Amino acid sequence: MLALPETEWGLLRSAITDARRARPPAHVARCLMCSGPVFIQARAFRGLRLPYFAHFKGGDATCPWHTGETLHPDDARALQYGGAQESATHRMLCEQIAELAAADERCVAAEVSKYLPPSDNERGRYPDVLIVRRGAPKIAVEIQLSNTFQTEVSARCLHYEREGVGLLWVLYGLDMQADDLPQSFRDVVLRHRGNAFLLDDEAVAESLARRTLVLKCYLRGPEGRFEAGRLITLDNLTFSARGPPYLEDRITPGLLARGEAARTPWRTALRGRSPDFSYADLRSPAFLAANDHLCGLVPGLRQWEAETHQGQWMIANLIAVVFSVLSHAYGTFRNYASRQDNVQALLNSKLPSENLLPFALIMREILQRCGANDLLPGSVGQHLDRALSLGDGNFVLDYEAPWAAIAVLLPELFDPLLRFELETLDALPTWARPKTTTTGRTRVPPAHPAQRPQSLEEDHGFPHHPG
Ligand SMILES: [Zn+2]
Repeated sequence: MLALPETEWGLLRSAITDARRARPPAHVARCLMCSGPVFIQARAFRGLRLPYFAHFKGGDATCPWHTGETLHPDDARALQYGGAQESATHRMLCEQIAELAAADERCVAAEVSKYLPPSDNERGRYPDVLIVRRGAPKIAVEIQLSNTFQTEVSARCLHYEREGVGLLWVLYGLDMQADDLPQSFRDVVLRHRGNAFLLDDEAVAESLARRTLVLKCYLRGPEGRFEAGRLITLDNLTFSARGPPYLEDRITPGLLARGEAARTPWRTALRGRSPDFSYADLRSPAFLAANDHLCGLVPGLRQWEAETHQGQWMIANLIAVVFSVLSHAYGTFRNYASRQDNVQALLNSKLPSENLLPFALIMREILQRCGANDLLPGSVGQHLDRALSLGDGNFVLDYEAPWAAIAVLLPELFDPLLRFELETLDALPTWARPKTTTTGRTRVPPAHPAQRPQSLEEDHGFPHHPG
């Protein structure tokens, strides 16, 4: 966990808290010593922000890794506010936001601490400000003055997500360029996918001039520092099925970049293949460059290729077949390995061949994890079973370099933490989502429109067939 970037352990931290508050509650992380549920705390240490696991309150105090009781949120809240639930500044801000939002001619209602009855929860809530506009999603604004606890952040996020109401956290009195942003603010910014929303004097003046609520949005840069703030209105926000709205998703692209970078040289090479899929293609400069790139990422791959008859060629052929299968999983089949016009014909001819047979275990694993899993019940599954029935000794095993190579090319399928993070954001690419089968019928899980990257083709490397 110490080796993870802050955004990644932050996503895990949020997911652990959310799972514990979900119905029914679940535990994402447990102590290896006592099996008790744990969560992630963070401490500043020598200029760094370091995460560590801590037992939830009520955990086994005899566990050698127990670090002492953590404060119950209610007690911590009482300490923080000196018992008072709401400060005068908080109330004033709520009223100001409601007033600015109400000036918009599309605004139907902008109310402070108004009870919002539940539609999919047992109880309703009192959002700081509820904004209802014609032809736009309902928005609950919550103001974060000082520290709001992770448990509260989590509870509100889950609540409004179930209600289908956009939850907008507005931060106040912060210097976004400061290094020592408290953890609770970091949690909220991460939930907004690296966006921080503030109401400052400039935003207030602009709101009055434009007669609509204007906020200042700070976007988190790649190194974790915030860019200069920009003035935005509620119409600039994207509302996702998972989590609070955002101006720009500054988290997901970073998570998808690793697999994308590993695949790019192969995509270039595969797209440049000759129309007859000549074997000579695989010795072209583009394929040699792709292979060099992959060997640089996977220790032992070059040696495996050298020690295996036709090793380098077999890896290129495997990747051509795998990318073809994943283009089918993405929804638009493109064959990089042969002239056959559908994925079944491609696999049925390739699986028994001596070039692909050693990778039968890899192929099964890929087919099960990706959106082409609907091929397994049919003839492809039979060919695969026949190949696998040859038994041990015929296949490349999972400690050998080709497995590592496939895992590096497809972290969306083979890196469990990345998969978990992308699922949390509802951002797992279409091709990496197994289709769910119910009573023998195959159904594609709905991808939320807001989650669809503008250019899947460039983002994920399993492109449309041209024309
Ligand atoms: Zn323990």
